[in-house]
Amino acid sequence: MSGFFSTPIEYLKGVGPQKADLLKLELKLFTYGDLIQFYPFRYEDRTRFYRIAELDESLPHVQLRGHIRAMETIGEKSKKRLVAYFTDGSGELELVWFQAQKWVARQLKPGVQYVVFGKPSRFGSKYSIAHPEIELLSPQSERTGYLQPVYTSTEKLKIRGLDSKGISRLQEQLLALALEHIHETLPASLLALYSLMDKREAMRQIHFPSGNEQLQKARYRLKFEELFYIQLRLLTLKLSRTEKYRGQVFNDPALLTRFYTDHLPFDLTGAQKRVIKEIYADVRSGRQMNRLLQGDVGSGKTIVAFISTLLALGSGAQAALMAPTEILATQHYQGLKPFAKKMGLTIALLTGSTKTKTRRQIHEALESGHLHILAGTHALLEDPVQFQNLGMAIIDEQHRFGVAQRARLWQKNREYPPHVLVMTATPIPRTLAMTLYGDLDISIIDELPAGRKPIKTVHRYDSHRLRVFGFMKEQIALGRQIYVVYPLIEESEKLDLKDLMDGYESIARAFPQPQYQISIVHGRQRPDEKEWEMQRFIKGETHIMVATTVIEVGVNVPNASVMVIENAERFGLAQLHQLRGRVGRGADQSYCILMSDVKLSKEARIRIETMVRTNNGFEIADIDLKLRGPGDITGTQQSGLMDMTIADLTKDGEILKLARQAAIDVLENDPELNSAQNSNIKRQVDAQTKEVVNWSKIS
Ligand code: ADP
Ligand code: MG
Repeated sequence: MSGFFSTPIEYLKGVGPQKADLLKLELKLFTYGDLIQFYPFRYEDRTRFYRIAELDESLPHVQLRGHIRAMETIGEKSKKRLVAYFTDGSGELELVWFQAQKWVARQLKPGVQYVVFGKPSRFGSKYSIAHPEIELLSPQSERTGYLQPVYTSTEKLKIRGLDSKGISRLQEQLLALALEHIHETLPASLLALYSLMDKREAMRQIHFPSGNEQLQKARYRLKFEELFYIQLRLLTLKLSRTEKYRGQVFNDPALLTRFYTDHLPFDLTGAQKRVIKEIYADVRSGRQMNRLLQGDVGSGKTIVAFISTLLALGSGAQAALMAPTEILATQHYQGLKPFAKKMGLTIALLTGSTKTKTRRQIHEALESGHLHILAGTHALLEDPVQFQNLGMAIIDEQHRFGVAQRARLWQKNREYPPHVLVMTATPIPRTLAMTLYGDLDISIIDELPAGRKPIKTVHRYDSHRLRVFGFMKEQIALGRQIYVVYPLIEESEKLDLKDLMDGYESIARAFPQPQYQISIVHGRQRPDEKEWEMQRFIKGETHIMVATTVIEVGVNVPNASVMVIENAERFGLAQLHQLRGRVGRGADQSYCILMSDVKLSKEARIRIETMVRTNNGFEIADIDLKLRGPGDITGTQQSGLMDMTIADLTKDGEILKLARQAAIDVLENDPELNSAQNSNIKRQVDAQTKEVVNWSKIS
């Protein structure tokens, strides 16, 4: 934005220092630019006047025209209210105020013509409107056929006259001054191709729509622009990285072929094969790979990871596999070890609890190149860990690692950065992935190994616990193992532990030793204790594992076929889905039992019903996105990227796809944005870059 838009907000007529301070404090509006981009969050329909006789309860807010016949205060104490009898000749309704009654009563005069706006509700045969908007009938208020913008305001602002209407008046002032400074920010070719409204008109229509159609076009245009520039930034980042970082070329498939022909334990699914092809194409291209691998729990990402390491190893490089927890890193290590052994490859595990001596040996073997594969936790990132030549870095469960940690892995290599494969089992809706991981290439395993039986999920109230115990006993008699999981909420760890211990006791009573053996795992245990309990379950020595959510991530016990989730209402959808994914890994029919209280919030009910209805991780992710909004889902605050003024990833997926494609097309033809045609884009990108730089200086 040009200089005009950096003008401090107090320069606007009608603002002044006091109001300016409030606007800054309450709404973070500092400049003209901030204010003009402070868009209404909804619009009220003032397109026509209704007659009282035609009201019905299905109507949203309506606009009426008439006069007050009489007023009175009725009721006692908290029921006390001011009622005005309002008529327009076709009938009568009651306007009701529970608050500020005296003040309202002083303002209103019987017999005078008013315009009233509000939502009618029906009591018996009569309609009433509680706390309506009311103003004198005037040429201005009588104007129909428009949509009234509604802006967010706060109590403090309202006292100073800056309610929604007050803000709208400021916008009117500002817009009159600003129009000539608003320049087109998209190239004419895109405006034409996507039938977008021009910028100036869009800014006018968003604040003062002349009709619904224009409003929709304005919103569409502004959303498109916002998403376009986010995508452009991400794609530019990706492009510059591709140019800056050469990748090692791994084009010797001998090792992979040997694994395929001699040791592959099952046929790969079509999706697994496709993803391996994508990875192979990357690592032989000469460019550094940065790829996100998404696959639902149980879709078989581990074998894909192993085959990826073979690509690097086949050309004499090393590979690392980093997981967020010790348990998971250990499991990966144990999962890969048999394959490595068969292939004559060396593999080691490095975690926080690796003994100093072993640690030193690992460091040496890594540097000399004798160690081929290193699995581990964050410990991999520590400084003494130096590879001879790290060719492939695989990061499991990305959402637990920050972008900064990803970057540190890169620096583990001297000449070339390693190829990076990020794996996540949390399906992310496409729209979100395009933004969060817009700088990565994305591969998706969207197919489960053949012969998997879908997990049967049911919802049971706590009062049916005995029946659930009965079912668990039947399953144990069939030789199966069972998880019972309790929620863990960090701020009340004590309480959770109590829940867990109470639960453990009731289970221990219902499943007495020596017939039944139980493992217990929770966050308060020492790592070795935890490990021991886990191992007993993994080896099949215990029938039931009672745990907090430490098992959420990645644990693989194919013989476990029942997942009981206690207080299921306290888990988010993504977490429930993750937990359920711990079962259904073997050939047996698996079950997930969601236990809850009878009383459930609306959202909790939707979550549980969704789980019962579907096993599809992407469908679940979509619903999760709608319930929670994008910020929450990722867990990490991706600075800046997710701050949008008008676009909404939960609703604007279609626009996002078009905007991303538009950005791809632009960069393909003109990566430096030097052509005259793209001068608008260039100007906007430069302005944004300046803004980012300024901010980085401030903070
Ligand atoms: P996730 O994607 O959750 O990491 P895993 O890699 O742990 O899934 O795989 C889950 C289970 O499915 C493992 O026991 C694995 O051996 C098995 N598996 C993976 N791919 C196949 C396949 N193509 N056919 C049969 N079983 C498979
Ligand atoms: Mg896994």
